[in-house]
Amino acid sequence: MPCFADRKRVVIKIGSSTLAYPETGNLNIRKSRELVEVLADLKNSGKEIIFVTSGAQCVGAAKGGFLQKPKDTPSKQACAAIGQSELMKFYSESFEQYNHKVAQLLLTRDVISNETRRNNVINTFNKLFELNVIPIINANDVVSIKQLDFDENDTLSAIVAALCKADLLVILTDVDGLYDDDPSLPTSKLIPEVDRITPEIISMAQGSGGILGSGGMLTKIEAAQIATEAGIDTVIVGNKDPRILYQLFETENAKCTFFKGQEHGIY
Ligand code: GLU
Repeated sequence: MPCFADRKRVVIKIGSSTLAYPETGNLNIRKSRELVEVLADLKNSGKEIIFVTSGAQCVGAAKGGFLQKPKDTPSKQACAAIGQSELMKFYSESFEQYNHKVAQLLLTRDVISNETRRNNVINTFNKLFELNVIPIINANDVVSIKQLDFDENDTLSAIVAALCKADLLVILTDVDGLYDDDPSLPTSKLIPEVDRITPEIISMAQGSGGILGSGGMLTKIEAAQIATEAGIDTVIVGNKDPRILYQLFETENAKCTFFKGQEHGIY
């Protein structure tokens, strides 16, 4: 695996299972703070950080008094609306401790198909980079309609990486990367590097997204496919300790799966 020290513009995607307690849906404050600290420090080192975060629905469900994440669309959307402002309050205050400013971008899938909207988003990204502000992205769940829009944030992170011409996409998740079989089996092996996403690779991406998240390994591989086809190197890495991100940028031996961006990828 290469060392990514030279990558400047980096999209980092975090799922609900990194940010919230599975038992309650409440924000895991310790883990979220550790993550913010690492991201703030990476920004201090000169990187442009673009942060794609889920968690609105589960944090909103907990705050809204639901005993578990609801399944019907109006409740999910209400939870997203409650949780998103909670998340942003937390991020804004936490990044502020390190003197970093943040901005919220809630996106829908038409940023791909609608040229005007796409250009608006790209222009916003560019201005935020100029202003040295960390863009924090989630899907705009309140106006999203399932099947037509982002039902999970893995795809969203790949599209964001392509829109802002990122040098690297990093997807954190609850396993260390792609395994050749069910990761809970002791015989399964981590695949360190993937040159091309073949049907065989896709068949390895089995398993579900757990209680909180919406995507499993499959949606992460699909995201890696979108990003690598756009020429963007992609890494899937474990979320247990956010300091793994330092290893990614400082060493060649971080435990993860690296998907090589295609050379003539089209943004
Ligand atoms: N936009 C959803 C949220 O913030 C993402 C759901 C997911 O990827 O788990 O809750």
